[in-house]
Amino acid sequence: QKNVPREAFTAAIDQGTTSSRFLIFDSTGTPRASYQMEFEQLYPHSGWIEHDPYELVNSVKTCIERATEEFVADGYVVEDIKAIGVTNQRETTVVWDTESGKPLYNAIVWPDTRTSKLVHELRKKEGSEKLRELCGLPLSTYPSSVKLAWMVRHVPAVQAALKAGRLSFGTVDSWLLYNLTGGVKVGLHVTDPSNASRTMFCNIKTLEYDDFLIDFFGVRGVNMPKIVPSSDPDAYGVLSDGILKGIKIAGCLGDQSAALVGQCGFTPGMAKNTYGTGCFLLYNTGNEPVVSSNGLLTTVAYSFKGHKPVYALEGSIAVAGSAIKFLRDNLGLIKHSGEIGELASKVKDSGGVVFVTAFSGLFAPYWVDDARGTIFGITQYTTKEHIARATIEATCFQTKAILHAMEKDSGTALHTLAVDGGMSNSDVCMQLQADIMGIDVDRPQMRETTALGAAIAAGFAVNVWQEFDELKNINREGRKTFTPSTTEEQRSGLFSLWEKAVKKAQGWVD
Ligand code: ADP
Repeated sequence: QKNVPREAFTAAIDQGTTSSRFLIFDSTGTPRASYQMEFEQLYPHSGWIEHDPYELVNSVKTCIERATEEFVADGYVVEDIKAIGVTNQRETTVVWDTESGKPLYNAIVWPDTRTSKLVHELRKKEGSEKLRELCGLPLSTYPSSVKLAWMVRHVPAVQAALKAGRLSFGTVDSWLLYNLTGGVKVGLHVTDPSNASRTMFCNIKTLEYDDFLIDFFGVRGVNMPKIVPSSDPDAYGVLSDGILKGIKIAGCLGDQSAALVGQCGFTPGMAKNTYGTGCFLLYNTGNEPVVSSNGLLTTVAYSFKGHKPVYALEGSIAVAGSAIKFLRDNLGLIKHSGEIGELASKVKDSGGVVFVTAFSGLFAPYWVDDARGTIFGITQYTTKEHIARATIEATCFQTKAILHAMEKDSGTALHTLAVDGGMSNSDVCMQLQADIMGIDVDRPQMRETTALGAAIAAGFAVNVWQEFDELKNINREGRKTFTPSTTEEQRSGLFSLWEKAVKKAQGWVD
């Protein structure tokens, strides 16, 4: 037996868009063991993205086993893991038969655009103007509501289950929690307010399901998950099986909320930007929801038991790291995502190329679903280095547009942006971001902030931490700041070219 200290650990299940992870953190927020695995992305038609619900569960189970084996091999004791938190890709929609516990369709993943026509139709429906005020979200292809409504219309097995009163709905957190706590008959059917606020079924003020919203989308009769606090010692049950059987689940947060918590964005005015498959900027607005007039979403940041809910304004970008994956997998310009920075840094600018990476339309602050990916400004001079640079810049420009919207909605200007997520690993990407935005970019050394946030939610519930103040120093060491090296004139010149390109990319599909 190795001589390791006995202390309280918390763990996190992080079920993301492209991979699942399990991490075990000590009380300083340092990961002591982890395991990550990718799973299959299913693209049955252009614009459709699905996941196999069982693959999501099985990948999570594998990660739990492998990471815990490493933890034990290092001499740590399983019983010292006091609680587990869950964090997950948001909006992705799963349906299953309440009686058999079996999925009735593949999970429809958040950037999927199959619901475009339905969204156009719903925009014309009476009452559509009330939606944003009630739930904080604009009608688009993005939330779970339209995905579920599409399944009810188009999938006979889903229709039949609804008629028979056997249709269970959940976002990925609910589906995982249901299965991890025993599945059919015994598994808990729950969700937290940060996830529920992405469905469009939940009232943003009461944090309960709203009859108007349920009826608007025609899903009355569906078994909805019970909404429980994001951090709660009693609401989530225990793992029913495997190496961590009996360990309590005590926290649950949508991935972007978890990243805000993991960056310790607990005070109003703090913001973080996570560059994963998509890119999501969350700005803490405190205990009151702020309805945006500038294309941002109003969302629950987190709602811990015994505390008032905390809200955020959110700018969501559908395509970020996935555009780099596109250069790798579809165009073969790079072999690994990590090569993008080096390629882009071989040129001093994009040579006039602007890449509007609107593969699934454009999300915040534009919300146009008839745009598609478009590269502008190609000449005989253009090289792959220019395209690489323009691909990174696309995310940076959208982040800048979101910041502008946030400043308008909140009346305050941000001075520093805390960052994390896969694409933030690249120094070149983060320097470009600072150069385009004109404010400092602050990156932690330990970038698993999403998982850390879920672990914090769980740890709070079981008293590993009791005050937000105790977390002040968590993940502070070794942070790196990227400072802008551009002039205001350069920044506004580049940004107006981007805005011109965004206008031209619209109206491509019906
Ligand atoms: P998610 O949680 O959405 O699955 P991650 O935070 O794991 O995403 O980020 C994965 C994304 O980050 C991928 O799309 C990948 O292209 C991008 N990425 C990973 N490493 C780098 C890097 N060094 N430079 C740029 N992009 C990267």
